Amino acid sequence: MIDRVVVAEPRGFCAGVEMAIKALTWMVRLFEPPVYCYHQIVHNEWVVKAFERVGVRFVDDIGDVPIGAPIMLSAHGSSPEVVAAAADRAAVVIDAVCPLVTKVHHEVKRMANNGFDIIYVGHRGHDEALGTLAEAPEQMTLVEPDDGLDRFHAADPAKVALLAQTTLGTYEWQEVLDRASARFPDLVTSRKSDLCYATTNRQEAVQALAKECELILVVGSENSSNTQALVRVAREHGVDAHRIDRASDIEEAWLLEVSVVGLTAGASAPDHLVTEVIDRLNPAKGFELLAVTDEEEYFPLPPQLRSFVTTLQHLVEAGFTAVEAGAGPLERDREWTATEALSLIAGR
Ligand code: SF4
Repeated sequence: MIDRVVVAEPRGFCAGVEMAIKALTWMVRLFEPPVYCYHQIVHNEWVVKAFERVGVRFVDDIGDVPIGAPIMLSAHGSSPEVVAAAADRAAVVIDAVCPLVTKVHHEVKRMANNGFDIIYVGHRGHDEALGTLAEAPEQMTLVEPDDGLDRFHAADPAKVALLAQTTLGTYEWQEVLDRASARFPDLVTSRKSDLCYATTNRQEAVQALAKECELILVVGSENSSNTQALVRVAREHGVDAHRIDRASDIEEAWLLEVSVVGLTAGASAPDHLVTEVIDRLNPAKGFELLAVTDEEEYFPLPPQLRSFVTTLQHLVEAGFTAVEAGAGPLERDREWTATEALSLIAGR
């Protein structure tokens, strides 16, 4: 019998995911289906299926997109080759890359242009790592957090930089940083780390959950790197933890002799899935929130989308004298949430 459920704050959608989901919702509303999206817009099964139901086709090869079709590029960031190929094929390309991923791409280019060899801490095959490594493949070596640095060789040990995927476990990144700093005393790295605010905040919240819960459930999909990191952080702090996509994934055996369950969600998991888990656990004393910090980050819609919508708005205003020029939907974007956008397309 579950006594209490403690729900982490913050959890779920980050500013990058909010922006990407709203941007793809705009695409669905502006264009006839199918709308193409390179890679899953965000790594969440429920979100991907919701978009597929309204005519979005997710592809892993830009060559699968018909010439002239509208294309969106995912939040994880794309390689320069993919961005160029998309521009060649499509009438409209909207890049929904998170600005915090773009920041790492810029750092890679800056370091590579200055002759640095780069240790890139990330997960092999992850969409974000693939896009970032493609910025300077000759000068970058992917290092998995557990790999060690044996495979990394620097032309000049005084010119080594360390950069990272935004969604790693903080302790995993720190271990590689410590080893790299010991081997390369002149190591250059980001002032804090490349791990984004959403990743570190959600991990901090899990550490707080670990102090008072016997089990931690993390809502998120298998290919969501930050979700998997939350599970590892919970286990690192000595608490049994499991990733679930939905409430029905919970196994009875996990709940045996557990009275307090901690609950959180990866940065791409919709909050209604968290509510369903609370309902499924049906705690005798209800649920409570455990907040470690507030998040107020907001990322505007991609510039290509904003200019496309603005042009359309001007055309409408020019064609219909009854329509007065004024604040358009873009000015209200800050108040509009990805949850509302998903409700719109899911017809809920
Ligand atoms: S998890 Fe971080 S890097 Fe990834 S989309 Fe969210 S804010 Fe951006």
